[in-house]
Amino acid sequence: MSLIQELQDRSGNKCELCSATENLKIYEVPPATTGGVDGSVLACAKCLQQIENPDTTDANHWRCLNDSMWSEHRAVQVVAWRMLSRLKSEGWPQDLLDMLYLDDETLAFAKATNEGLDDSEKVIHRDVNGVILESGDSVVLVKDLKVKGSSMVAKQGTAVRNIRLDHENADYIEGKVDGQQIVIITKYVKK
Ligand SMILES: [Zn+2]
Repeated sequence: MSLIQELQDRSGNKCELCSATENLKIYEVPPATTGGVDGSVLACAKCLQQIENPDTTDANHWRCLNDSMWSEHRAVQVVAWRMLSRLKSEGWPQDLLDMLYLDDETLAFAKATNEGLDDSEKVIHRDVNGVILESGDSVVLVKDLKVKGSSMVAKQGTAVRNIRLDHENADYIEGKVDGQQIVIITKYVKK
């Protein structure tokens, strides 16, 4: 079964956020490393437009989250959490947010894009030069690094493609060196 079919079945062919039935598309909830049905939402064009263009957010449209935030599906919970966080200064979204309990893993996923977080709460990864790193970036090692738990040394100048960020710790990223997934300290890489 294709992803769109799985989502249509799961949702009863409705927007999983506002229940609209037209112009439904797959929304892969960023950072889309999880992907698949567990990391995706079936959403209508109106919801998608606003999710992706914060300037166009119409707070009233998102009163639908009153219902949809109780979805049993993680990706829907995450989008609800992010939109409520974005709108929390309106008052009522903060009230809903206070009721929305997410387990630790889901909360880390929800916070992964820094949506709606205060500056003090944001986990921002920076390379040796202070340049902001994002999931999917390519970096180069700026010194030889011993790989913990093995005899391998990752050489200075090695390119690491498609990095992943540790969303709980701004000092760590992950990436593949010689086919092995390793944890790398951000101050030893350059974008
Ligand atoms: Zn919708």
